Amino acid sequence: MRPNLTPEEYINGILLQDRNILSKAITLIESNREEDEKLAVSILEACIKQNKSSKRIAVTGIPGAGKSTFINAWGKDLLENGKTVAILAIDPSSSISKGSILADKTRMDDLAGHENCFIRPTASSNNLGGVAKTTRETMLLCEAFGFDFILIETVGVGQSETIVKNMTDLFLLLLLPNTGDDLQGIKRGIMEMADIILINKSEDDNIMASKRAATQIKQVLHLFSTSEKDWTTPVLNVSALHKKGLSDLQQQVDSYFLKMETTGFIGFNRKQQDNYWFEETIQQALLQTFSRDKNIQTVKKELLKKLENKEITPINAAKLLVQKFLKYK
Ligand code: GDP
Repeated sequence: MRPNLTPEEYINGILLQDRNILSKAITLIESNREEDEKLAVSILEACIKQNKSSKRIAVTGIPGAGKSTFINAWGKDLLENGKTVAILAIDPSSSISKGSILADKTRMDDLAGHENCFIRPTASSNNLGGVAKTTRETMLLCEAFGFDFILIETVGVGQSETIVKNMTDLFLLLLLPNTGDDLQGIKRGIMEMADIILINKSEDDNIMASKRAATQIKQVLHLFSTSEKDWTTPVLNVSALHKKGLSDLQQQVDSYFLKMETTGFIGFNRKQQDNYWFEETIQQALLQTFSRDKNIQTVKKELLKKLENKEITPINAAKLLVQKFLKYK
């Protein structure tokens, strides 16, 4: 038997900034056991009542863009300025590799072990939806703990950007100096999500290409409709490896938060995000109940056969199945 702490012990531990208890609470959140889930919910509900607010920042970009190197460099600056930083990850590949993008990173060695920095690798046994849920809930625990900054690193693979966009206040996109030549390759949707774009590896022989890319990207951004928050996405040249351009970035991050807090966008956006997670979870829960239902799966097989024999239309088959499900639920 694993001796669990009481909900109060967890909550007080987190509020008193006990990192050991924070880690234990995250493990609860990652657990699939029913009793752990109940305890996790009561801890989370106590946490969100605390009204603490971290700056929630997404760090995205294709593998190799330099996200970890950048987080290491910027995180070091933040720590030197007396800030506290939590680093989490959304890793859609984790369920396949059973690995974690942060676990074996040596690129964050300026941060690892620092008393004001908390690095938490992704839980490895979940699907993308599960990873999103645990990352978001881990973020809420870290917020109650009182971190100034929470950085969420993601691997630039399709869905993970949308997920991380829906749990953060600021979306940072890292690109490479040759990006300007290959603007078609970057999905428009991802560029539109970005609040700040960084062209990384802007050093030495790359400087010219990097500046050209910045100009081209600014032109493309100009074509997008202005966002609801009245913010022009800055495009900055940085070198994470050589720790260059980071003070410009800090300035932009500060002015972004100043503006978005003043206009009330941060609060408004977080409310919208809560609604998004509410809707998402309803859909997931319904689908899960549906697909785990043995009777329904039997009827589904029968309908699939009818579909194959052209005895029924796909739409009608789907309707019949849903009706059947609703009737006996
Ligand atoms: P990630 O996959 O996006 O997390 O990228 P990494 O941080 O692991 O970096 C990928 C590679 O790019 C590593 O070899 C880094 O050392 C290198 N790298 C990252 N930032 C820079 C930079 O600013 N300049 C140069 N020259 N290399 C960099």
